[in-house]
Amino acid sequence: MIKAVRGTRDLLPPDTELWNFVDHKVREVFARYNYHEIRTPLFESTELFARGVGEETDIVSKEMFTWEDKARAASEKSQSLTLRPENTAGVVRSYIEHELGRSGLLQKLYYIGPQFRRERPQKGRYRQFYQIGAEVLGPPTAGSELPIRDAEILDMLTALLDAVGLQGWTLYLNSVGCLNCRPAYNQALREALAGVKDQLCADCQRRAETNPLRVLDCKIPADQPIIEKLPKIADYLDDDCRNHFAQVRAILDTLEVPYQINERMVRGLDYYTRTTFEFTHGELGAQSAVLGGGRYDGLSEQLGGPKAPGIGFAIGEDRLVLALQAQLAQALAPLKAFVIPLGAGMNRHALKLTRELRASGITADVGDESFRMKKSFETAEKLGAKFVVIVGENEVQASAFAVKNLKSGEQTTVPRAELTRFLED
Ligand code: AMP
Repeated sequence: MIKAVRGTRDLLPPDTELWNFVDHKVREVFARYNYHEIRTPLFESTELFARGVGEETDIVSKEMFTWEDKARAASEKSQSLTLRPENTAGVVRSYIEHELGRSGLLQKLYYIGPQFRRERPQKGRYRQFYQIGAEVLGPPTAGSELPIRDAEILDMLTALLDAVGLQGWTLYLNSVGCLNCRPAYNQALREALAGVKDQLCADCQRRAETNPLRVLDCKIPADQPIIEKLPKIADYLDDDCRNHFAQVRAILDTLEVPYQINERMVRGLDYYTRTTFEFTHGELGAQSAVLGGGRYDGLSEQLGGPKAPGIGFAIGEDRLVLALQAQLAQALAPLKAFVIPLGAGMNRHALKLTRELRASGITADVGDESFRMKKSFETAEKLGAKFVVIVGENEVQASAFAVKNLKSGEQTTVPRAELTRFLED
């Protein structure tokens, strides 16, 4: 048997109902905040991620699906390509390529789509997973650097989580400084790490030299007590970063968006500057981060573009759906009526009635005249139908149908003209 590849999976009904529900809410809420959709390719040149996300990150150093794409014609060059492990780099590349900053306005863009990382698969962690993300970026004259943008994006996230009905999340907030103050913090980290490096895992020993900030991402339990004692970034922020962060918090306080400061949260991508954040949910176990994001004021320039500060996030849709599953599965598009054709020649009458119900907005399904009564009822139960509607010769003639409420067991005869209203109650 050929099976789905490790770390990939099929999304099947009824789960796909929940996925569509989430997508629908995302489009609705993001539109209210004046975001517009962008769709970038599933693969990009490897260099985009190496330069954007950072060579020393786990994503780039271990997790990318990369291949050498051979030239097929003399006019082509072979090049290294990579399935996108995240979408911010692609959006910023697109912003630069299409000169979206030329309008002088903020670009408020969102995407929904698959991302690919060769991680160790487990619950809530896949090699093909789905992200819902949004980015707001633009020239500094458009206000792209201002704290109101950070607060607005966090406010939109709380509105979205509300709209999909996710309860019990926690928002963690931090500032990771900027290109001006980060070097001093990196230096402090390097010095602190010099004494304890030998006690850390092999990855951290390497990171301590190449990119000490990444040590804070380490998940190895034995390393944690040592990492806890390292210098804190809050003590190294310059005045501008400190002020920026204070203003973000002040606006969030006014909006009554609850958050907690987590000074260790530097996030696993190199492009972040200043505000970083993560929303976690208790139901998710080890992979508790539902979404993460932050500011990336230097990313456009790093990719050869104009100055275009920005902030964005990515929601792990797989995890959001997992967290919602128990809460919502029942409530979504339940089957209202299962129509049972009873006796030979009744299929066409049953299908006609089912069509009438569907046309008036009722979710309905239909059996077959070859089913015996018992099998029809069992099918209706399995489908989770609320009502069964029986279509026999007598019913068609009288234009009134026997309707049974499967929950209460109550049976009534309902005239055709009143059927829709009866089922809706
Ligand atoms: P990141 O792009 O690493 O900032 O991740 C943003 C969000 O995407 C995380 O908070 C997760 O919810 C989700 N995510 C990241 N990697 C995976 C994965 N391998 N499988 C499922 N979800 C993921």
